[in-house]
Amino acid sequence: MVLFLLVLLIVMVIGLYLEHDGITAREQDRLLSQTRIIAENMETGLAAANLALDDIRNQYLSERRHGVRPELAIHLPLLVRVMPGVRTINILDARGILIASNRTDLIGTDLGFRDYFKQVQAQPDFSTLYVSPPFETLSGVYAINLSRAIIGPKGEFAGIVTATLDPDYFRSLMDSVLYTPDMWDAIAHGDGTLFIMQPEREPLRGMSLAQPDSFFMQHRESGEKATVLSGKVYSTGEMRIMAQHTVNPAALKMDQPLVVAVSRDLDALYQPWRQQVEFQITLLVVIAGLSVFGMYAYQRHRHRLERQVAMAREQADLFSIALDHLPTYIYMKDHHHRYVYANKPTLELFGCTAEDLAGSPDSRFFPPEAVARLHEIDSRVLERGEDTAEEVVVPGEGGQMRVYWEIKTPVYEDGDRTRIWGLCGISTDITERKALENKFERQAHLDYLTGLNNRRHFMELGESELARAQRYQTALSIFMLDIDHFKRFNDHYGHKAGDLVLQKLAEVMQGTLRTVDIVGRIGGEEFAVLLPETGLAQATEVAERLREHVAQAALVFDAGQSQHFTVSIGVTTVLEKETNLDILLSEADRALYEAKEAGRNRVVAAGHESDDAA
Ligand code: GH3
Ligand code: MG
Ligand code: MG
Repeated sequence: MVLFLLVLLIVMVIGLYLEHDGITAREQDRLLSQTRIIAENMETGLAAANLALDDIRNQYLSERRHGVRPELAIHLPLLVRVMPGVRTINILDARGILIASNRTDLIGTDLGFRDYFKQVQAQPDFSTLYVSPPFETLSGVYAINLSRAIIGPKGEFAGIVTATLDPDYFRSLMDSVLYTPDMWDAIAHGDGTLFIMQPEREPLRGMSLAQPDSFFMQHRESGEKATVLSGKVYSTGEMRIMAQHTVNPAALKMDQPLVVAVSRDLDALYQPWRQQVEFQITLLVVIAGLSVFGMYAYQRHRHRLERQVAMAREQADLFSIALDHLPTYIYMKDHHHRYVYANKPTLELFGCTAEDLAGSPDSRFFPPEAVARLHEIDSRVLERGEDTAEEVVVPGEGGQMRVYWEIKTPVYEDGDRTRIWGLCGISTDITERKALENKFERQAHLDYLTGLNNRRHFMELGESELARAQRYQTALSIFMLDIDHFKRFNDHYGHKAGDLVLQKLAEVMQGTLRTVDIVGRIGGEEFAVLLPETGLAQATEVAERLREHVAQAALVFDAGQSQHFTVSIGVTTVLEKETNLDILLSEADRALYEAKEAGRNRVVAAGHESDDAA
């Protein structure tokens, strides 16, 4: 900004300088042309006066022998009238006595004391036009005389022919070239005497300008015909610019030139320029002020923004530190599914730094199946703006499968929530919890003592198995099994031993039956078995084999002795479409009852004669 203001200042200064120069140059030209106008007019006047004087002299010389004739006396007033700028024309004899004049009343006057006479008398030259220093005439006019010498037949001085120039004529000419009120112009004699000043300043009239360093002297000493000077004027003490022009036509042999001056007041001349300077300085100050204010406002605004950014960053840092300490995986991905942020636990899981992570795809950390699953979820978040909560199984360290609970939500670019920028996700490694859950679930389904299905679960499995058999019209049979005289066994060997019998029985049942068969402990010492795709006859055979296996199995006590036990089994099968599990179980139970009635350790099939295996 300082640079900008400096450049502006330089441009202004240069502009003003050039303008100042331009004003000066223009004014010089104008003043010179005004002086030239006066000078040319004067030259014409001088030439005319010179011709007239020459003519009168010739006429006088030719008539002298016969004395002055009346023709010349008539001729002079006529000449004066037709020559503008000439007041009087006189002829003086060798002693300075006025012998002929348009002012006949003055004839006979002795003017030998006049400088204009003595000037010629001292060095008479036939061809010179003498220009007198200004003097006051008999009629009180301040004037200059132009004179020619009259030389007699023997080369002797015989008088002068002289014309008095009318200052009033010059005044109107000098007035006409002044174009502003602060101007004045002047005519000085070659010796430095001030002749006319317009507008007139009486006290200065006749003053000598031939002073060292006066404009007049500088002009004269320059040897130039025309000059322009500016500075302090000797005559008036004013500060002015002045053009001077020497009037000394080559055609005339003047003994002294005249000098014309036209001048202007410097103050007045440069007044508009000074106003311009003031205006531009004001403008510059205003611009500088506005710039400084603008700069200040901008800086303040920037500082405020910086403070806000710093605060936001600080908050983000605090937030980030907090997230790093949460024992959970938190991350953000852009809409190309690439990671842009991850908290410390996530980075540790991925085994990379935050810088390293930026822009990484899932494929860098997970195998293709896991990536596909993650992308499927991510796409729902990124494309449809869904919030998701899903379990994802991915291989962890050592290839062991880990279960993650992944919650993801879209992150929007704008407050209107129209453009999705990416997503934010949180994952809980729930592998252990999941295992525990599975264990609980299993425990809820299984009997704690035997590890077989408990009653509730057996019933659930039984319902679905029955439904399937009914849908596909496949066979399905059921056993009901009860330990014989178990009460007695308990009483004799103790309840603990009884429990061992129950476990032993479960072992034998699992060993004998197929894996597709569903075995359940549905009461204290009562068991049920579902045999899918098994008809009654086949089921009865299985039941028989089971009964035998049980009978052969022995419970070995710590002391070394062993004890056998037996079971009774009731068998039934699905025959009617409309049946249900309760009906089937009670059918089997009835068959079991019959087996007990028949003496125990036997199998009875419902609605059939039981094969007596005893
Ligand atoms: P039956 O041949 O008629 O079946 O004679 P039983 O003595 O076995 O008679 P019942 O089936 O009515 O007897 C049930 C007995 O089973 C009662 C109880 O002492 C025993 N019992 C039930 N549940 C358990 C158990 O969990 N552990 C042990 N040790 N005994 C049990
Ligand atoms: Mg019983
Ligand atoms: Mg029993």
